[in-house]
Amino acid sequence: MGTKEEGQLSLLLDDLTALEEYIHDLFSFSPLPICFVSPVGVVLEVNPAMEKVSGFKMEEIVGESLERVFKKEEIGPLVKETLGEGFVDGKELRFFPKTGQEITTQVFTRTRKDEKGEVVGYFLSLLDLSGIKKTEAELKRVQAALLNILEDTEEARRKAEEEKNKTQAIITNFTDALFFFDRDHRLAIINPQAENFFKIDKEEVTGESIEKLHRLPNLHSLIEFLGEEIKEISRKEFMLAEDSIFEVSVISMRRDEADLGDLVVLHDVSREKMVERLKTEFVSLSAHQLRTPLSAIKWSLMMLLDGDLGPINKNQKDILQKTYQSNERMIALINDLLNLARIEEGKYALSLAPVDIVNLCQSVIDPSEESFKNKGVNFSFKKPDQKAIQVSADAEKLKLVIQNLLDNALKYTAKGGRVSLSLKVANQGVRLEVKDSGIGIAEKEQKRVFSKFFRTTEAVLIEPAGSGLGLYMAKNIIEGHGGEIGFASKVGQGTTFYFVLPAQS
Ligand code: ADP
Repeated sequence: MGTKEEGQLSLLLDDLTALEEYIHDLFSFSPLPICFVSPVGVVLEVNPAMEKVSGFKMEEIVGESLERVFKKEEIGPLVKETLGEGFVDGKELRFFPKTGQEITTQVFTRTRKDEKGEVVGYFLSLLDLSGIKKTEAELKRVQAALLNILEDTEEARRKAEEEKNKTQAIITNFTDALFFFDRDHRLAIINPQAENFFKIDKEEVTGESIEKLHRLPNLHSLIEFLGEEIKEISRKEFMLAEDSIFEVSVISMRRDEADLGDLVVLHDVSREKMVERLKTEFVSLSAHQLRTPLSAIKWSLMMLLDGDLGPINKNQKDILQKTYQSNERMIALINDLLNLARIEEGKYALSLAPVDIVNLCQSVIDPSEESFKNKGVNFSFKKPDQKAIQVSADAEKLKLVIQNLLDNALKYTAKGGRVSLSLKVANQGVRLEVKDSGIGIAEKEQKRVFSKFFRTTEAVLIEPAGSGLGLYMAKNIIEGHGGEIGFASKVGQGTTFYFVLPAQS
């Protein structure tokens, strides 16, 4: 061998030693747990990383079977595959370190052969999967939680959908007509009843502005009634046609202070109104029929009392007088019923004209003054500063109201008492007051004073004649004029009834 070759060989040997050292260092310092195992499964060498993972010192594990740290049934197939194939690339095996606490690992093997190609053993390396497994389990939990949330969301969505369908069904099947305007005053929802009553098509009106709806002939009167501003109202009467009357309510919908829009509900009261009209017509007809015979009785009684049909004795006269008074009460009642019928029939038809209310009061007072004098009740008319006050009113009906208030004041005030009528022009309009020093109205009965046929217990005792219709009519008439009627009263001290009519514009 020449020196050159010798030199090269020595260099090669040096390289090999360096390589071996390098490999050994790699084996020792590799963070991956590695061991070298004999073909029969005995551990021949372990690196520090393997010592650390297994918890065994090198001397405790070298010479031991792999079954010490793996399950027999799992390691068997691994060894077989390694020796057969020459390697195993990542197989999941349970690893049991000294603590006995199972670790899931991924195992890699590689056989090592000698120069003759005989297998002298194999390297076995582990990858601790417990961290990954933990993360995986964590991921699975998160995934499950996410799925639950998704499921809940789906459930909530389904419920919302169900709720929406329910609301939709309610709106659709509601017997009242419904319109819902959004906060920009655009028609957002309309139900079939509304389409039906107003003969409109949902497709044509949904989404339209209130100004545009105002121009539609079929909705014009409703929008006129509601006003383009759509203010809240409660059970206000709206007449679409002679035989089509509704009670309208407008509800402002809000959620958490936010304005959502306005719901307009139209309740059809046409039938009730028709029945009411028929009832009024019946009362009117019967009252008319009764008045004629009662008048005949009145005149016959008067003739008897006046002795036109021959002399009568005192007893006969007393009885005839009582009969005459009862007949008079019946005539008064019939007159009240007739007035009531007239008012209810003409509820929608007040014939308004400019009226001087000072003059109107005087025309009621003049014929009544005699009655005040006869009963010994002082009466005064506190006239306003103005000579005349014009109001827009139905003179005949307004006269009925004033007459009724004066009659009541006289009826329920004892001899020696005082009654006054005053007229004032106030901010809100013209105010008329009838004040008396009479019996007053008990607090618990005050709520019912304007109801049809209501009379207080005290009033019935003092004055059996009375229909309980006067104030009911008065309220109807005043409210029909857009005015307001009310009273203040104290038992035993007196009562003040007032009404206010809007100023004439
Ligand atoms: P009527 O006087 O025919 O009974 P109204 O409808 O005019 O019927 O009055 C209803 C009831 O209100 C009366 O029965 C009476 O109980 C009470 N009332 C009305 N005005 C007065 C008054 N000035 N003082 C005391 N009670 C009154």
